Amino acid sequence: MADAADIATERECILRQEALARLHAARGAQRTSLASRATCEECGDPIPQARRAAVPGVRLCITCQKELEA
Ligand SMILES: [Zn+2]
Repeated sequence: MADAADIATERECILRQEALARLHAARGAQRTSLASRATCEECGDPIPQARRAAVPGVRLCITCQKELEA
């Protein structure tokens, strides 16, 4: 069973992870070229989660990507 010190350590660890997550999110927002977009850069349509997972850093929906490659 966890004592007070364990609980305090765990809470501090969680707070630190949350702070790091916020920092990474802020950095990610600045470097959008590396992050997959939730919406298409061209038409603004939502990009399906499967496509975002399959194509790291994806910026266009399938329709716009095809038009670009055509
Ligand atoms: Zn599009």
